[in-house]
Amino acid sequence: DMKVSVDYLKGLNAAQLEAVQHPPHIPLQILAGPGSGKTKVLTSRIAHLVTVHSIPPTSICAVTFTNKAANEMRERLEKLVGNHVTSQIKLGTFHALCAMFLRKHATLIGIGRNFTVCDADESKRVVAKLLKPYSDYLEERNVTLKETAIMSRISKAKTKGLTPVDLADAHLKADPKSSVLTRNKVDTLEPSQVIASVVGEVYQRYEKELKRSNSLDFDDLLVYGVRLFRDHPHVNKWCRHLLVDEFQDTNVVQYQLMTYIAGASRLWVAFSRNGELSTHAKSSTDFPSTQQVYLEQNYRSTAAILSASVAIISQDKSRIPKTLHTSHSNGPLPVLHSFPSEQDEASAIATEVKRMIAHSGGMLSYKDFAILLRMNSLSRAIEGALQAEGIPHTVLGGHRFFERMEVKDLVAYLQVVDNPQFVPAFVRVINVPSRAIGDKTVAEILARAEKLQVTPLEVVERIHDGKLPDIKPPVKRKASSFVEVIRVLRKMAVEGAKPGALATKLIELIEYQEHLKKHHDDWESRWDNVEELVNFASEFRYVPTVASGANSPAVAWGKGQDTAEEDDWMDDVDDEDTIVPPSEIDTPLRAFLQASMLSTDTEGGKDDPAQHDRVIIATCHAAKGLEWPVVFIPAVEKGVFPSSRAEDIEEERRLLYVACTRAQGLLYMSYCTSRMAAGTVKRSILSEFMTALSEDDEGLLQHCMPELTDDDRQILATVLRRAPPSDAMLQQLLNEYRMRSKPSEWSFAAAESEIDSFYSVKPFPGTGNTFRERSQ
Ligand code: ATP
Ligand code: MG
Repeated sequence: DMKVSVDYLKGLNAAQLEAVQHPPHIPLQILAGPGSGKTKVLTSRIAHLVTVHSIPPTSICAVTFTNKAANEMRERLEKLVGNHVTSQIKLGTFHALCAMFLRKHATLIGIGRNFTVCDADESKRVVAKLLKPYSDYLEERNVTLKETAIMSRISKAKTKGLTPVDLADAHLKADPKSSVLTRNKVDTLEPSQVIASVVGEVYQRYEKELKRSNSLDFDDLLVYGVRLFRDHPHVNKWCRHLLVDEFQDTNVVQYQLMTYIAGASRLWVAFSRNGELSTHAKSSTDFPSTQQVYLEQNYRSTAAILSASVAIISQDKSRIPKTLHTSHSNGPLPVLHSFPSEQDEASAIATEVKRMIAHSGGMLSYKDFAILLRMNSLSRAIEGALQAEGIPHTVLGGHRFFERMEVKDLVAYLQVVDNPQFVPAFVRVINVPSRAIGDKTVAEILARAEKLQVTPLEVVERIHDGKLPDIKPPVKRKASSFVEVIRVLRKMAVEGAKPGALATKLIELIEYQEHLKKHHDDWESRWDNVEELVNFASEFRYVPTVASGANSPAVAWGKGQDTAEEDDWMDDVDDEDTIVPPSEIDTPLRAFLQASMLSTDTEGGKDDPAQHDRVIIATCHAAKGLEWPVVFIPAVEKGVFPSSRAEDIEEERRLLYVACTRAQGLLYMSYCTSRMAAGTVKRSILSEFMTALSEDDEGLLQHCMPELTDDDRQILATVLRRAPPSDAMLQQLLNEYRMRSKPSEWSFAAAESEIDSFYSVKPFPGTGNTFRERSQ
């Protein structure tokens, strides 16, 4: 298990080697374009720190921006240094890292160790509930205020360190206790002041509710994290080597967190790419001795894809000019194609996936295709078309597995077991399956809990045990099954039961399958999700998140060679650790709940794309750091790219660049001349980012679907490091494809004219333009 591979240096180029072998005590920045091996270098560097410098893996923190990226990094690391070492490295998103440290040092900042992470969905529910009493007040003043708007204001305020009072107006400032609801109705507030005061008050109540629930929302994780590292510097003895991937994407709080964790004299490596300026500029003054390494060779994409991508980004004036080159051959030119409508675009993509699989002679399969969207809402047409073609697909970061109703129910039960203070979970499940406990009764339970300063669960338990007078209509009988379920599970959890066993027991106790059957026609697919949750819970790898004291696996690892630096790291055991046994700090159940709340994509669910041969649909944001042999970017249109709501056009351009540079071998961009928006068909035009490229004929793009030559297939094979297809295989697949397809699917030109026949060309009123409308 301790065997460590030394292969991690093999094949690295000179600049990559320099970055990997950089002295551990000098801060380093990697400035590099996409696909130049930043993530590869980062994982290799961790291997290097551990093997050559004998740095204890527990003192290494590696941060990435998405769970998907973190998982990928974990897998790459396991290949380099094995599971034993990898499991000791603190690796995850900023949120996960904070949750980990906050859990360990909860008492230092005055929160309960068993705090629950309140996910965005739950936060929204809480805010919606708190907003309700203000609806009349807002209506009277003709002001609309949605919970999502409040949430984003609260979120912004939190990350800027603003309190509810800071947000509210002068009235509230003068007397924070007075509420806009009780204030004189004939005040003369401007709408913006009305909003400010309501947001301020909802924010205040929201904070109170979270506090009462012993719960932290996503922003809190970062904000409390900053507080923890700032006010208790000894905490970051647990993190001596910080490595940050996608550094250019850190926001202000994350950057603060980084500086506190790394400390001015600490050892750290940050990774960054061209395109960003502000953070980069800032960091060079915060970390004066920082050295820089430039990676300029792209290993991911064909030259054709790289050239087109660079042409898109090089119009960005704020970009640090940087040459990026590749040793790969040119390959098929990226495609730019227009379609009459989003349905046509979507079905052409579906057709092309099948055609290209055949054309590649089986070198490609579904999982090699990604469709990257500027926004989630664009996925509907695409999903429909893939469905119609019978193409298996999955939406990354779409409807999250853990947001599904049935999954939420079960998780909420387990949250009540772990943290009975977490009111949202209690409210969610007290009446699941139906126990005829109505909203009024729940309100009464909550009111009593508030009055007695106990948890709502405690109230129900006391009623059940006859220690509190019953509520009318009687709760005792109705709630008894609830109390019994929780007690059974609590006992199991205290005895250290695994999350899988707890979930299984829970489902059995509440007869959840019966419940689903009774209430949902689609109970079978819901039951699939339930089973998937049980699978996930059973397979959940429990890694004690922070090594603590004598039980630490780090002790088995032994001390490092740079002992002067690392000597005291193991002695750093907080007082509270000697009182609370590790099993209570971080039970398998708690670790599982935390992981489920922090998962932002479909990982763990049965849609986990790694497990299946499926086409991926993802937003361009979620695709950062990932790569696919074939990438489609539909809707490269004005108003989409850049988004009509975008504040920073250059940021949008970089996003398109990120999307393009995900492609290894084939890149398709497309736009529609009309698109359905808010229920009406609107005319639509090519994105301004593409017009120059599509007009001037530099041969960077092609405008029809590519016919692969043998050379192209050879180039694809090289880029993808796959075996090229045999002639026999290619012929067989092409023949099969021809047999199955209509002629229109085979020849794109034919498809075009067929599409034309479905549409009649109509002039746009008042313009010289035309649009195509489906003929009846
Ligand atoms: P992004 O900016 O998209 O996050 P990145 O800079 O992190 O990209 P990686 O994902 O690390 O790039 O690498 C891109 C691809 O190039 C990967 O498939 C990686 O394995 C490959 N690669 C990187 N360096 C080398 C190398 N020296 N030799 C061969 N392949 C390499
Ligand atoms: Mg990367």
